[in-house]
Amino acid sequence: MSLLRHTKGGEVHERQSLTVNPAKTCQPVGAMYAALGINKCLPHSHGSQGCCSYHRSTLSRHYKEPAMAGTSSFTEGSSVFGGQANLLTAIENMFTLYKPDVIAVHTTCLSETIGDDIPQITENAIDKGIVPEGKFVIHANTPSYVGAHPTGFANMTKAMVDYFAKSTREDKVARRVNIIPGYVEPADMAEIKRLAKLMGLDPIMFPDTSGVLDAPQTGVHEMYPAGGVTIDELVAAGDAQQTLALGPVCSGPAAKALYAKCKVPQTTMGLPIGLAATDKMIMAMRSLNGGFVPEEIKYERGRLLDLMTDMHQYFYGKTVALWGDPDQLVGLSELLMSVDMLPKYVVTGTPGKKFLKRMGDVLGDKVHESFVRQGPCADMYLMHQWIKNEPVDLLMGNTYGKYIARDDDIPYVRHGFPILDRVGHQYFSTVGYKGAIRVLEQILNVLMDRQDRDSPEETFELTM
Ligand code: SF4
Repeated sequence: MSLLRHTKGGEVHERQSLTVNPAKTCQPVGAMYAALGINKCLPHSHGSQGCCSYHRSTLSRHYKEPAMAGTSSFTEGSSVFGGQANLLTAIENMFTLYKPDVIAVHTTCLSETIGDDIPQITENAIDKGIVPEGKFVIHANTPSYVGAHPTGFANMTKAMVDYFAKSTREDKVARRVNIIPGYVEPADMAEIKRLAKLMGLDPIMFPDTSGVLDAPQTGVHEMYPAGGVTIDELVAAGDAQQTLALGPVCSGPAAKALYAKCKVPQTTMGLPIGLAATDKMIMAMRSLNGGFVPEEIKYERGRLLDLMTDMHQYFYGKTVALWGDPDQLVGLSELLMSVDMLPKYVVTGTPGKKFLKRMGDVLGDKVHESFVRQGPCADMYLMHQWIKNEPVDLLMGNTYGKYIARDDDIPYVRHGFPILDRVGHQYFSTVGYKGAIRVLEQILNVLMDRQDRDSPEETFELTM
């Protein structure tokens, strides 16, 4: 039940230091998700067992797959004296028992507060000979009190560049393109790779959770499914012609690090959600392939355009409340604006520069009709207060919105992370032209279901 079930709205009190039902999850969840996108990688949570259980269970509940990971299992002793001994034991045990190629360590609130120096502990592990030849330990600092799951994803993705990418030649390899996909579903990563290959490019995607968190049932347990970017590919990323970073918050830092380290030129753009954003991605790819767009992609684009035209009459003027990750919110808002819907309320608990400006650019002359907030107090409670005062036609966001949907009886499309109460979303892409068709169909279905439900007998129509 939501906190506001029995209230009628009223004055929205400004808060400075209290978050109620945050519109985010914790940093290490994103770091663990990114690490699972490396082939034969075992993520490791340097903190207490409780943290690791939360990270793993959130991922497992969203993807309906086991999210394998280790923990340093902090107790009172490690909280006081530091977690070096625990991490050394963990590294030794994990390489001995589970034989990963990479252990990707992320920190937690506790180990950050203690100030554990992970590179120093890793050096110590190498000196002691407990990191086998040809195996790696990488790390990202992910204190959750200064970030959220998208920043954890960004930090671990940047670590892949810091630890592996190498520039090995004077010239760059033509048509080899690094694609940093952002915090999206495995199906989205597969779809972006498909489009890049159709465009005649040789993509290195990192991280890449397709084939890992949507792997098929074969009857045989695979500790490490076949998917994920390989170490060789991460090394080769340093010789690519270009990096395309999809989403400034999740992908921008790694792309910039790759430029600084290996001088790979980078283009940072929004997630390819909707027609215009996908066009931008395709045109960026076109600038690398000699200037062609294959008929198959033109065909997919045309179908989306046709569908948008057919559906527009039902979308026009509808208002939407959105919550979730900044990169997703900007992309979704652009898609909604393109069919004349208004993102009326938008909140994200994830910090990051330029979100309000990006939203302002997307909203254009509608900016004064919308409420957009970012930060610790931009939470589900604030959004519900706004909705109580002036309802919207649609809710779009992760599972955390279901209480508002039920209490205020508003049509609801689940989108983003985490989705803990439905199954199958990781199999369906929402990026690219095909993905936009799926999102628009989901929206229209809930709006028309609502219309059917509320229609009196005399206006209940077979054809709508
Ligand atoms: S917010 Fe901090 S303490 Fe809580 S689960 Fe995440 S890392 Fe652990």
